[in-house]
Amino acid sequence: MHEHDVLVIGGGGAGLRAAIAAHEEGADVAIVTKLHPVRSHTGAAEGGINAALREGDDWELHAYDTMKGSDYLGDAPAIETLAQDSPEETIQLENWGMPFSREDDGRVSQRPFGGLSFARTTYAGAETGHHMLHTMYEQVVKRGIQVYDEWYVSNLAVTDHDDPADRECHGVVAYDIKTGQVEGFKARNGVVLATGGTGQVYDHTTNAVANTGDGAAMAYRAGVPLEDMEFVQFHPTTLPSTGVLISEGVRGEGGILYNSEGERFMFEYGYANNAGELASRDVVARAELTEVNAGRGVEDEYVYLDMRHLGEERITDRLENILHLARDFEGVDGLEEPMPVKPGQHYEMGGIETDENGETLIDGLYAAGECACVSVHGSNRLGGNALPELIVFGARAGRHAAGADMGEAEITTGKTAEIEEEDGLDTPVEPGAVSSADEEDTVADGGAAVVEPDETVRHTVERERTRIEELMEKDDGIQHAELREDLQKSMTANVNVFRNEEGLKQALEDIREVREAYQDVYVNDPSRTFNTDLIHTIETRNLIDLAEAITLGALARDEFRGAHWRQAHQERKDDEWLKHTMLSWNDGTPELWYKPVILEGESKTYEPKERSY
Ligand SMILES: Cc1cc2nc3c(=O)[nH]c(=O)nc-3n(C[C@H](O)[C@H](O)[C@H](O)COP(=O)(O)OP(=O)(O)OC[C@H]3O[C@@H](n4cnc5c(N)ncnc54)[C@H](O)[C@@H]3O)c2cc1C
Repeated sequence: MHEHDVLVIGGGGAGLRAAIAAHEEGADVAIVTKLHPVRSHTGAAEGGINAALREGDDWELHAYDTMKGSDYLGDAPAIETLAQDSPEETIQLENWGMPFSREDDGRVSQRPFGGLSFARTTYAGAETGHHMLHTMYEQVVKRGIQVYDEWYVSNLAVTDHDDPADRECHGVVAYDIKTGQVEGFKARNGVVLATGGTGQVYDHTTNAVANTGDGAAMAYRAGVPLEDMEFVQFHPTTLPSTGVLISEGVRGEGGILYNSEGERFMFEYGYANNAGELASRDVVARAELTEVNAGRGVEDEYVYLDMRHLGEERITDRLENILHLARDFEGVDGLEEPMPVKPGQHYEMGGIETDENGETLIDGLYAAGECACVSVHGSNRLGGNALPELIVFGARAGRHAAGADMGEAEITTGKTAEIEEEDGLDTPVEPGAVSSADEEDTVADGGAAVVEPDETVRHTVERERTRIEELMEKDDGIQHAELREDLQKSMTANVNVFRNEEGLKQALEDIREVREAYQDVYVNDPSRTFNTDLIHTIETRNLIDLAEAITLGALARDEFRGAHWRQAHQERKDDEWLKHTMLSWNDGTPELWYKPVILEGESKTYEPKERSY
């Protein structure tokens, strides 16, 4: 068994920052990651990092923009922490050598981004995430932090108390992708989940194939609530044939959108008379699809994004990467032609419930980055706010896991006196596990039925070895690819930008079918080395649980807020819905409940206003 003070699961932006912070606190820390850190999906981030660095800007403006962007569903303590800490964290990256784009006078450049009242997005060309990852990975190497790369974490080692609030996390179980060995990793202090997004729930996404929400699914089944999962961001500018992202930086630099009639529809049809193309992402994505549905799309599918007027010099200086993406994936020369774009899944606003110190309901378990929900983004994330979230909350989670005293958190986790139970959601089929979790001898998935740390890890390792052997021994049945495709197609058809009750119920029925069929899943590849068939099969189980969580939340929330649009509920219902949707995996049965949003900030209360751009 491997043993460290702190285990960080994931080597993307959040994981690297958490590991550095834990190391700075004096902890013996290791990163366990299914990809090499610099291949993590943070490397795909193009546009930039929001931080109030300049005169005329300040953290309070950043916090206000973020709260407004969240459609008043973000928690003020988290939003204010993000806005206050992001300048220092961004400067820290610069001091570590991140090659930010600069003005002629040497200052770090900042560009406008959607929903921001000040041009506060710092960037490194259109490869911000790539440089961020490499900068932090250098610091990890410099500090001698151990990295177990190409190890797939398949479960958490948690104790099996009936009440999730009493459970403790003592480590993880991981599968060595290179050798097929299943081994235990014990964490003396804490485990930080930094496993990234869930994009593979959909078939048209900007996310990598590796973004399967493993950490969120594992934490959920271990008893940690998922928060606000219905809020999925669809980015307005993705390439139609692949889902590859065309950064908001293009619109930030002055790129324009138009329809098949050559109309600049954001203004022409009044979707956002002030901000136009730089309205918030949810607004622009809906506008594009409305154009397509009204017959003003190109090939009934997409609209055009044009940057030709910016000129070759500016484009190659600030957006060169975009030229390569448009040419390589769509065969379009962005200097000569407009680029075809349409909305695609991009970001999961919801995730593992944490407080502003990264702590979850389970003792010793922390989460940060896209897999977590602090909640900073509420119902809609502003572009450029995810990367600062990684470094601000990654650092806090790492420090806390290493034992630093973070003071008392203002955000509470788990069920407190203020929560409200859902009094009966009408679902067409029974959601949750097909065979009940208690067919096994534990309540928490991965639960060990023992409480002593070493035994907890050992017991979980044994269960994972058995689970993997069972998957490998079957020699016929259904393959994960078929199930994954059915799931993704249903989610894209029914739980997309525009949602209605009928579609959401259809999705729940489809998810149930996929869940039942998963009982017969088998792994075709018998190899013990680099068996991606096995890994994808395990990941598909995670996608099923997360797709269901997204859909249950979407069905319950009968209002229109941020990225969540409901056909029959066209208004934001503040009297009823200023609350987070919470979902607990209660012994295999998803249980919905709600907790209030915190709008009281450090020095003011954010009053919900109409959100227009
Ligand atoms: C194309 C694109 C462009 C973007 N551009 C911007 C931008 O300009 N600005 C901005 O603010 N945001 C942007 N975002 C959002 C932002 O980049 C992501 O939210 C963020 O990078 C996620 O970082 P992370 O550290 O949480 O996860 P990731 O970087 O995805 O890292 C996850 C890590 O977890 C590991 N992992 C996952 N599962 C397991 C497992 N089971 N076992 C072991 N390891 C595991 C992976 O190996 C990986 O190392 C963009 C997103 C995309 C998709």
